[in-house]
Amino acid sequence: MPNSKTVEVHLDGATIISHIVRSIIGLQQEFVALNLLRNTTFYPILNTRMIMMEIFPQLGKYNHQQVVFCNDNSSGLKAIIAVHDTTLGPALGGVRMWPYASEEEALEDVLRLSRGMTYKASVSGCNLGGGKSVIIGDPKTQKTDTLLRAMGRFIHSLGGKYICGQDIGTNSHDMAIIKQETPFVSCVHEKAGGPGDPSFATAWGVKAGTQAILKAVYGSDSLTDRRIAIQGVGNVGYFVAKYCHEEGAKITASDISEEALKRASDEFRAEIVDQDDIYSVDCDVFSPCAFGAVVNDETIPKFKCKGIAGSANNVLAEDRHGVALQKRGILYGPDYLVNSGGLIHCQEEVLGEVVKERVLEKVSRIYDQTLQVFKKAEEEGISTAEASDRIAEERIESISEIKRIWAE
Ligand code: NAD
Repeated sequence: MPNSKTVEVHLDGATIISHIVRSIIGLQQEFVALNLLRNTTFYPILNTRMIMMEIFPQLGKYNHQQVVFCNDNSSGLKAIIAVHDTTLGPALGGVRMWPYASEEEALEDVLRLSRGMTYKASVSGCNLGGGKSVIIGDPKTQKTDTLLRAMGRFIHSLGGKYICGQDIGTNSHDMAIIKQETPFVSCVHEKAGGPGDPSFATAWGVKAGTQAILKAVYGSDSLTDRRIAIQGVGNVGYFVAKYCHEEGAKITASDISEEALKRASDEFRAEIVDQDDIYSVDCDVFSPCAFGAVVNDETIPKFKCKGIAGSANNVLAEDRHGVALQKRGILYGPDYLVNSGGLIHCQEEVLGEVVKERVLEKVSRIYDQTLQVFKKAEEEGISTAEASDRIAEERIESISEIKRIWAE
């Protein structure tokens, strides 16, 4: 039966459920626990009706498998782990630490991001499911070893169903700390025996997606004398510039960091443009490598590129912008496919040793996968973004079919 600890947990708004309810009630299925709680006199206090009304519809919207709310008073950890789909394998996705304005915002973010990981893993051929976690807090002031280790223990309690990695607000050093509590972690820093930052692999995939666009547009995937306009020459953008430059491309770059621009200019003779001018550069491929939502109502009329392929997530401000690009004749390499090189790098880490050459070879498949998306889009008269979604969904559906076969 629920005890005072249960009431306390819910009353301080420290969120819910899976582990807390399970540990207190001693049941394996949290929905059973919730139903039991609903039938107790504690029900109005526990406010489980609110949980059922407000959270489960959100989980049901995109069919999330499991969402775990993690609370640890001693370290101040408040986190949410979302496992969207494990049809293809364990759910892999980064730990994002962000000072969310509300718990709702954090939940929304983790649900959206974990679903995105399912699609990314599927379309890029990884045998991984989709997951993500968020820690509510400011990484600059609230990130401590204790908090990260507490997070590691929650991740470990899922028994490998969720494997974490770095994301906004966390880095490979943080993953090394998490590794002290669980082996279910990727992107671990070199000093702790991991392969470190996967940005080079992400960039290699962006180059592959870029070449697929060139192939579809010109019939040749040669980068020689092609102009690539890169927005943001940070971790990934730097390597995109490097790899394309090495194959003869001309680079245009924008960034808010003078240092990053100087490096691109010195090493790759990059032409530098102002932040707002990057959209209207007369180029072959525009490569957004800074932030999302850069394809929107304002930027679409400005584009003079033949195609778009970059590392940024959620490049389309809204789904309809994929159709708008199609109408303008701009070939869009779906973000979660062309930036999946980092995930492929993580998969290698999870499987064992990361051998750079093998990672790059696997990441190179993004070239064919992007061309396959373009073909499907053309055949079905849909945007490339939608074609990519369909390919991802079809792969998951086909694998889930075979799960009907009993093979314990
Ligand atoms: P980063 O912070 O190293 O680089 C981003 C760069 O963009 C920085 O140099 C920054 O100064 C610049 N920038 C910021 N605002 C800008 C603006 N207004 N105009 C132009 N430049 C601006 O990050 P990163 O690791 O290179 O990641 C870049 C993007 O790719 C992010 O959206 C990230 O989520 C995504 N991504 C990265 C990886 C990876 O392996 N690192 C994998 C998948 C997706």
